[in-house]
Amino acid sequence: MEQTDNSNKQTQQQEETKDYRNCSYEEVMKMIEETRLNCQRTMQICNQSIQSIGESIKTVNEAKQNIDGFFDQYNQAMNSLCEKIAGSFSGMSRCFLKNENTDKEFEDSRQITIQEGAQLFKDKKKVVFLTGAGISVASGIPTFRGVGAAPLFEKDGVTYQNEEISTYNFMKNKPDIFWERNLIFLGGQLGKKYNVSHLKIQQLVNQYKQIKTSQLGKQNAYQPQAVIVTQNTDGLHCQAFNELNPRETNYMNKDDPQYGFCPDVFEVHGSKTFLRCDNQECKDYDKKFLYPQKYNSYKDFICETCKTQARPNVLYFDESYNEKNYRINTLKELTSDMDLLISIGTQLDTGYAAQTVSSAVQQKIPVIEISLTPVIQKGGLTLKGKAEEVVPQLCDLVMELNKQYLQNKQLPTPQQKVATKSIAQKSQNPLKDQNYKSNSSLQSTNTSNSSISTKVSTNSAKPAVKPLNQNQANTKTNQKPQVKQVSSTKPNVKIGLTTKEKK
Ligand SMILES: [Zn+2]
Repeated sequence: MEQTDNSNKQTQQQEETKDYRNCSYEEVMKMIEETRLNCQRTMQICNQSIQSIGESIKTVNEAKQNIDGFFDQYNQAMNSLCEKIAGSFSGMSRCFLKNENTDKEFEDSRQITIQEGAQLFKDKKKVVFLTGAGISVASGIPTFRGVGAAPLFEKDGVTYQNEEISTYNFMKNKPDIFWERNLIFLGGQLGKKYNVSHLKIQQLVNQYKQIKTSQLGKQNAYQPQAVIVTQNTDGLHCQAFNELNPRETNYMNKDDPQYGFCPDVFEVHGSKTFLRCDNQECKDYDKKFLYPQKYNSYKDFICETCKTQARPNVLYFDESYNEKNYRINTLKELTSDMDLLISIGTQLDTGYAAQTVSSAVQQKIPVIEISLTPVIQKGGLTLKGKAEEVVPQLCDLVMELNKQYLQNKQLPTPQQKVATKSIAQKSQNPLKDQNYKSNSSLQSTNTSNSSISTKVSTNSAKPAVKPLNQNQANTKTNQKPQVKQVSSTKPNVKIGLTTKEKK
């Protein structure tokens, strides 16, 4: 076989050689020229290839840089996310775990008196009231969990856990059961009215607004603000707002751009008062509207625009907070500089509440917890009791201290002094705390909203005088210095906190 192959090759070579030998000079030159041109073309192609390879390398390098940059950013983002998660977990543990030997930084939460609690409001610029189901118990609305909670929903021998039935998924898959339970809940809340806690908190918020906008507040650069954040979907805070601010209820008009969003109240889990469109294709997707006056079944709850089944305007367990429906970004921005947090009637079982309290404790912002069953075990200040018993006392006292603050900020006219004196003589001290009593010369029991309103507007009409001038004036006119009044804003209450307050 090999021999045959070799002889074949020889023959072929001979034939080729023979061909060339028979070529003329011109033909050979032509072939050489063609070969040269071919080589030239090949060289060109090679050069182009080299060029494009160079470009490819450049592109690859750029891509690599981009990828590297992306990975850097990604790593940074992941690190910061991990830090945040770790931070919130450690915050949670600091907040909720007791007897944690390794944690020396945070003291155990401790009981305080209402007077101590009220003193913590002094000079605070951003006070946040965070409320949960406990505040609405006095209105006849049972809590979701714990003692006295509403019974679990049962249907055809099946008991449904709240965490299962209160989900978007359940609503979509078993609408009959979902809506039956929902309408029972809704019926239970129908006609329920806000109670004294909702009212007093709103009064205090109103007082802060009045101070902020008053001439006196502006002159003294005292611009306090109070924000109500509720996990409840019962709408009772908004009811109290409407009651005390009848001229600010534009948000209840359908055409208002802030329709359904009460100015002073952040309902982070939505409001059962409203339904909203659930059809992403609809131009009115997520738009809120009220329940129809009359209906036969839940199937009558439809979006007027797209005629599809609407949903309750409520955040469910399998959903996330968002800006559009719950104003979560606005709220976070607004409360980023809070310097006092009051947690009322909540077990801090939901994401926003737990995170807010943990974060405040970590930043050593004072956190007052008003609850029958307190849950903050590290870094908190506890006022144990029913919301409707503790909240009104606390709010009344704070409003009274605010009034004193404003009165001390200006030099009273002789007439005002007489009036003040007679009020002080007539009024009965509502407080039991002896320390506080001995330091208070201006205890008025009248803390109704209208009286505050009058007082602030009266004050705002008068020019504020600096304390220095007040002393000078007192000396010159030989009047008795208002020592008692001044000291009344600084009662001798020792607050043993591990907070910024102490420093
Ligand atoms: Zn629609």
